[in-house]
Amino acid sequence: MNQNTFEHHEHAASDSPVRRNASLSGLRCIACARDYPVQDLPAGCPHCAGAGTPASLEAVYRKLPKTLAADSSGYRWGSWLPYTHGVSLGEGNTPCLDLPRLAQQLGLRQLSAKHEGMNPTGSHKDRMSVQGVSRALEAGARSVVLASSGNAAVSAAAYCAVAGLRCEIATYRDMPEPFARAFQRLGAKRVVFDRGLERWAHVRRQVEQEGAFALTNYSVPAVGSPVFGVEGYRAVALECVADGCIPDHVLVPTARGDLLWGLYSGFRDLLAAGLIRQLPRLWAVEPFARLSRVLEGASLQAEFAGQTAQFSIAGSTVTLQQKLAVERSGGGAVVVSDADAAKGVAQLGTQGLWVELCAGACLSALASLQAQGRVLPSEHALLLLTAKGDRDTLDAGF
Ligand SMILES: [Zn+2]
Repeated sequence: MNQNTFEHHEHAASDSPVRRNASLSGLRCIACARDYPVQDLPAGCPHCAGAGTPASLEAVYRKLPKTLAADSSGYRWGSWLPYTHGVSLGEGNTPCLDLPRLAQQLGLRQLSAKHEGMNPTGSHKDRMSVQGVSRALEAGARSVVLASSGNAAVSAAAYCAVAGLRCEIATYRDMPEPFARAFQRLGAKRVVFDRGLERWAHVRRQVEQEGAFALTNYSVPAVGSPVFGVEGYRAVALECVADGCIPDHVLVPTARGDLLWGLYSGFRDLLAAGLIRQLPRLWAVEPFARLSRVLEGASLQAEFAGQTAQFSIAGSTVTLQQKLAVERSGGGAVVVSDADAAKGVAQLGTQGLWVELCAGACLSALASLQAQGRVLPSEHALLLLTAKGDRDTLDAGF
């Protein structure tokens, strides 16, 4: 392992477009709370990894703003994030849409949708790429590597292109063609594997032997994506509240929980700053029981096999970050079948929204929570629409 490689040749602040948040004081383990200096630790907390219970790190800020005023230069929410200035394609500021007709049909006081498909490459992953690729630039990396067969691949390819970094993407052989075409058009290199774990081994080799910067996890058992990228998702919570959308419940399509943790972290700090009165309950929407089983007592390190057409949230692993995000916010996990996800896509279509299959699953998950009495008629729910639907070739069969 060579975890400190990037510390040796960081750019001087004066010759780089990247500026680190002066308030970023270090990294902290989300499980054992050990503190580490700012550095790249792709496997998460070394202590917890050594104990066989891997855990993600989060950023520690000396001082956060007390208001939701936009920063005067650089990123709108830079003072809440690891990097205040860096690579950009105009991401964020996605609309928080009010859906009164669907709210009425469902018997809910208010229903909103944060449309992350409005980001430059069509998904929420741009939130992660913008901070992660800025970190790669500051660290002096020449190339970025990740395992993805969908939205993250297209997003990373775009941000690496604008940053002038090489991008290599480990994919499945049978990934949907529109995604492969998109990231290859953006100049990224595709490396094809048959199995998920082979992709992760490839990412590890690129990091350890070639000095590449990893944007996604490659550890087994899994942790979330590297901390600098995951922190980028805090901006989603900040934008909702700044736009006056303060929900009681948030429904989030979830694979390994990067977005879920970023939302939790953002809302938690908004609560601490007195900018909201209570933490929204976060619900992980999953295509088959993974986190649901862990919450019932299964081991976090177990493999949870299952097939799904909701490819953006496929995968057989659960991470600690997603478990903590739902437990600490008082939410939970909801399983939605592909057929019910497709019904959700169709219902959102009646409101002019064309979203990927797993984003449709949010709406079906909301109906299940209402049926169980966990979401009440007097409450406000927010759907996280993670990506637009026009690259999703797999919803047509339902
Ligand atoms: Zn730890």
